[in-house]
Amino acid sequence: LIEKIAHKDKLESLVNLVAGIVHEIRNPLTSIKTFAELLPEKYDNPLFREKISIFVPQEIERINSILNNLLDYAKPRKPLPQNVNLLNLVKNTLVLFDTICEKNKVNITVDIMKDLSVYIDRQQLQQVFINIILNAVEAMEDKPLREIFITAEQKDGEVVTIFKDSGRGIKRDDLKKIFDPFFTTKPSGTGLGLAVSYQIIKENNGSIWVESTPDVGTKVFVSLPRQREAE
Ligand code: ADP
Ligand code: MG
Repeated sequence: LIEKIAHKDKLESLVNLVAGIVHEIRNPLTSIKTFAELLPEKYDNPLFREKISIFVPQEIERINSILNNLLDYAKPRKPLPQNVNLLNLVKNTLVLFDTICEKNKVNITVDIMKDLSVYIDRQQLQQVFINIILNAVEAMEDKPLREIFITAEQKDGEVVTIFKDSGRGIKRDDLKKIFDPFFTTKPSGTGLGLAVSYQIIKENNGSIWVESTPDVGTKVFVSLPRQREAE
């Protein structure tokens, strides 16, 4: 019975996935088609030519990024785990957010013990951290207080990293769906960030979960196996 349910779940999420892909790719395709159809009539209009040269590549890039994310989701690379210093990885990831945080007036505080390491695929974990931090930044756009706290706790064989933001939070009904591919509440979101992250963390023998209070903020927990001792 359990196997049957799992199979049905899989089938259902596959159907949802395909429906999502179709929907996501149809939008940019429609706009590319419209541009192509208008071309003969507006060929002599320099403004139109400029528009087409900006929007068409942009829409194609969007399709491309959907397909790339999808590939990550459907067929994650086999993890190559190694001992990774957590504080180091967090710091290296935050460098990528320097400009975004300055522009958006977001303050990020890190409180992680120096000697904490996890056994994980470094590049994959960085991708997950990027997705989580990006979501936190995006969730605080309409908020006057924009703060992210990144902390870590050791529990038995696990290290739990916690990302706490003061963003808009997630509605109870939405919380169940945030790891579904293509679930997004953003006008131009892909809804793939957390789906991909979930997949990656699972493949690396960890777990990821979210607690949230609407209007107050969100906490994302990433639990990972602790570093392996050298033999
Ligand atoms: P996307 O960012 O493209 O919408 P994600 O998979 O990264 O896709 O996130 C799915 C949805 O989960 C978001 O659209 C948002 O509604 C919700 N979400 C994720 N992280 C947060 C957060 N830190 N604060 C509020 N909502 C969040
Ligand atoms: Mg996202």
